[in-house]
Amino acid sequence: MRDVERLLRLVEKPGRYVGGEYNAVKKDWEKVKVRVAFAFPDVYEVGMSHLGLQILYAIVNGRPDALMERVFAPWPDMEALLRAERIPLFSLESRRALSDFDILAFTLQYELTYTNVLNMMELGGVSPLAAERRESEPLVIGGGPCAFNPEPLAAFFDLFVLGEGEEVVHELLDAYIRARQEGKGRQEFLREAAAIDGVYVPSFYEVRYQEDGRIASVRPLYPGIPEKVTKRVVANLDGAPFPVRPVIPWVEAVHDRGMIEIFRGCSRGCRFCQAGIIYRPVREKSLERLLVQGRELAKNTGYEEISLTSLSSVDYSRLLPLVDGLIETFTPDKVSISLPSLRADAFAVEIARRLQEVRKGTLTFAPEAGTQRLRNVINKRVTREELLRAVEAAFASGWLRVKLYFMVGLPTETEEDLDGIAALAGDVLRVGEECGVPKGKLRVTVSVACFVPKAHTPFQWEPQVPRAVLAEKIRYLKRRLKDRRIDFDWHDPEMSMLEAVFARGDRRLGAVLLGAWRRGCRFDGWREHFSLARWLEAFAEAGLQPEDYAQRRYAYGEVLPWDHIDVGVSREFLIEEHQRAYRGEITPDCRWEKCMACGVCPAFGVAPVLAEEDGLVSLPDHLS
Ligand code: SF4
Repeated sequence: MRDVERLLRLVEKPGRYVGGEYNAVKKDWEKVKVRVAFAFPDVYEVGMSHLGLQILYAIVNGRPDALMERVFAPWPDMEALLRAERIPLFSLESRRALSDFDILAFTLQYELTYTNVLNMMELGGVSPLAAERRESEPLVIGGGPCAFNPEPLAAFFDLFVLGEGEEVVHELLDAYIRARQEGKGRQEFLREAAAIDGVYVPSFYEVRYQEDGRIASVRPLYPGIPEKVTKRVVANLDGAPFPVRPVIPWVEAVHDRGMIEIFRGCSRGCRFCQAGIIYRPVREKSLERLLVQGRELAKNTGYEEISLTSLSSVDYSRLLPLVDGLIETFTPDKVSISLPSLRADAFAVEIARRLQEVRKGTLTFAPEAGTQRLRNVINKRVTREELLRAVEAAFASGWLRVKLYFMVGLPTETEEDLDGIAALAGDVLRVGEECGVPKGKLRVTVSVACFVPKAHTPFQWEPQVPRAVLAEKIRYLKRRLKDRRIDFDWHDPEMSMLEAVFARGDRRLGAVLLGAWRRGCRFDGWREHFSLARWLEAFAEAGLQPEDYAQRRYAYGEVLPWDHIDVGVSREFLIEEHQRAYRGEITPDCRWEKCMACGVCPAFGVAPVLAEEDGLVSLPDHLS
């Protein structure tokens, strides 16, 4: 198409835009009935580490009647060139403008990528506002975790897909092809698409507000449009397609390794965690399937490292035989296996030791809170003793550095909890000394995120602490973490405030988003590009206050912006969990203990699926 090669010589990392990677698929446009651009609203290195992209890319390109190409957010150097040369943002495979595609599908992983979404549409020749989009422009769809509160983006998307895409993508593409063959327009197609489970068409709903700005009602505008849209769940994950031939990035990706998804869902029940709710129930894949997928992945990619991914990989029921089986397979080819996250216990450390993770030098744990009291509040079931035993096992096995993740600003937090973080870091250093870690080598990193209340979680009603107070908490911790062997890093409170606004926001925020983007906001998740001043101007212009979204305690009885999005977990369960938090009560893990009747399994006719010795067990004994 255009003179893209010339541009590539002028940008910082040309590999972000060249395409043609190993395992990339380039299909003939004339031979398919529907062309989809998968848009990742962040840079190539981040997007290429996203498993969901690889899964959908393989599924859509596996259809003879469809193609999928990729596009990532252009870094400001490339954006400037595209604008100066009037070249539209293009896909990697065929270098066609986004406006040439039938469907533009965004994955929404993080609220601070929303300005990039608008920017990519406009750069690609697609009208950002859905109401202004012409029939000839692509259908714009969104999915991913942020689609579970899609309201701030309602004005920009034709539809959202809620939940797991493996099955619904076929239903949607079939419906699209049928509608095109029958000569139907966008509105007619959307009416049909709205009947597909898991598809939400925001323009078919009317939101009314009370005088104080709270929502009065959200109602469908037409007969036949569901009052609530339910998420999609893949009941048989073991049989679901998995990309064993993923595209291998040119530029080193954030996670530069192959990935095998070993299960979906998490039953640990951390009360701040959205992923733990929206991906319920736990569904493990069988050991046999994973061994086969691991072998194929290594063969087809040449990766030197394969990561066993999930929300909490050490919880996989048959982790030891899986690890041993993969080690046996991979050792001759010098392929290593890694776990993205570790549970704070000695078993996890033993697994990491077998995987020779010690080579990497740092072992990471996430106690999340500094005291047992606060860990009970958030339902994080790790004790100080367990953590220190795990750390002791790690130092004894040769690790020299430990990283600890915490949150500040959690509900009920006091100064004592912050002191607890400093005390725990000190304890870890002491254990390291006792284990004989050589002087000068022992290091502990304390990494702190700010609590962000998220939709559909037990903490969805909780206010976020004002950003100035979050900043003061971080300064306090900095003063307490004086030991030179401790490194301290933290997440920016201003960015966390904006994340909270969009995580719990409503449709009125569309105007703010548009205003911020027009003022030049891009890559808001990147500290060097984030500008709170521009955002505050956009809020003022729209007549809204960020504090009304981030810092307000939402009431149990009020209509929440995402109440018409049904993830299967009942409101009663979330309220009960919220109250248990204030009572400091721990909730059992339904994978191992008992069903707490969150509502997901009966709502979707599914059950937790565990990998056991004699194959998959879809209803563990304790649940039957
Ligand atoms: S319904 Fe019960 S078993 Fe199913 S996810 Fe909820 S708590 Fe777990």
